Amino acid sequence: MTGEAVTGTNAKEPPCVAVYGTDGGGPFVLVSDHAGRAVPSYLGDLGVSAAERARHIGWDIGIDGVGRALAQKLQAVLIEQVYSRLVIDCNRAPGHPTSIVKISDGTSVPANQDLTMEQRAYRENTILHPYHARITQELDARLKAGRPTVVVALHSFTPEFGGVKRPWQVGLLHNHDKRLAILLMDLLRKEGLTVGDNEPYALTDTSDYTIPTHGEKRCLPHVEIEIRQDLIAHVAGQEEWATRLARLLPEAWACFCQIYGTITDEQADAEGAIA
Ligand SMILES: [Zn+2]
Repeated sequence: MTGEAVTGTNAKEPPCVAVYGTDGGGPFVLVSDHAGRAVPSYLGDLGVSAAERARHIGWDIGIDGVGRALAQKLQAVLIEQVYSRLVIDCNRAPGHPTSIVKISDGTSVPANQDLTMEQRAYRENTILHPYHARITQELDARLKAGRPTVVVALHSFTPEFGGVKRPWQVGLLHNHDKRLAILLMDLLRKEGLTVGDNEPYALTDTSDYTIPTHGEKRCLPHVEIEIRQDLIAHVAGQEEWATRLARLLPEAWACFCQIYGTITDEQADAEGAIA
């Protein structure tokens, strides 16, 4: 792991971006918006107990272990957000109503009440923007080198919400370009898994930020993967899911290339646009 220093972050605070894995020449770039649960020291504990911050409202339980193991197995780079989504949600556009939540799943976040524009901007400038800039940097370098590039966003979801049990072990989210999601969905279903198609959430232009920004707007093949938290709460489950995805993602990509070509026209255009 390399914690990368980021301009604008207070020198006493940990950098907001952690990069895992190595680039072994494959197509995948892994990103994990909710992997971390750190809180900058100037915000104390946000006024939220440690037990509450350890719940799903603070981070995507288990996805750190899955992502890091997957990065290793795929020999891919994983870019993780280090800070808790309760500080600022890095899968929301700046200024979005749920970017900095006042209340999350019944838990009030005292440090997020009545923020000034300056306080919001500070969190955006020290956490949200540097994280996305690091992803942009990774993608720019790859496209400049003419490399096929696939953005994979990793998340986890609660087994139950609002008293309703969620039946899916894994969900694939997509919006404007569902090509890779559909191929991976087929492969996961062949494993006998119950796979959510835009479940438990649908990917939309406004509810998400990472895939719309780095996948859709750049015309890069992409998929957002949500894994149920009870399956990856422990190392054995994390390893199992990393192993499964390390096998199926390249398989889905091989199918994609067969059908659509290695570099799509749009990707070639995007490459030209940034050259
Ligand atoms: Zn998430």
